[in-house]
Amino acid sequence: MIIAVDGPAASGKGSIARAIAAHFGLPHMDTGLLYRATALNLLETGGDPESEFGAARATDISQIRFDDPELKSETVGGLASRISAYPLVREALLERQKRFAAQDGGAVLDGRDIGTVIAPEADVKIFVTATSEIRAERRFAELKRSGLDVHLPDVLADIRTRDERDSHRAAAPLVMADDAILLDTSEMNLEQAIAAAIEAVEARRTQ
Ligand code: C5P
Repeated sequence: MIIAVDGPAASGKGSIARAIAAHFGLPHMDTGLLYRATALNLLETGGDPESEFGAARATDISQIRFDDPELKSETVGGLASRISAYPLVREALLERQKRFAAQDGGAVLDGRDIGTVIAPEADVKIFVTATSEIRAERRFAELKRSGLDVHLPDVLADIRTRDERDSHRAAAPLVMADDAILLDTSEMNLEQAIAAAIEAVEARRTQ
């Protein structure tokens, strides 16, 4: 069973995808990490984010440790969003994601284009969303907890910029697949959102 979980920044899709994977005993891939690792690699090697070729070269991420906390920083997230608009970058990371999705027994992947580009054949597609204000509050609380001195209006502006860029780029924009289930978590806490997602998977599976 392939499960695709897509949605905008800070919608909760990562936590939901991890919980679904644990519940159904499936391997999970956070595809945003591939773009973040590429961005971090670009920063560390002093590459030029304005160059599509330079960014594509940075997709050789074998040296990046996926537990590096820097991957979660806003700087790296912002740069990941910029370079993920380059078709050459997306192309270079495509095969790895497709292979992960097609492995025996199935998989859960979360990102922006899983249900539309990486695994259009997915058995279940969930599009997780919430208002930008709510997502900003969640991200703000998360950043505060990790000890960062952040301001809510800045976090909201950042989320809106990222939404705008991810939704309007020409290559694999963030759009809900026609056959996806919409999960609006604006009025839910994480436990409720996870329960609703698992229920949606069960319902699709037994259809
Ligand atoms: O989900 P996360 O915030 O970690 O993703 C970082 C950036 O990578 C996103 O803003 C998005 O532009 C890009 N991304 C993408 N396609 C994916 C996953 C992430 O373009 N499947």
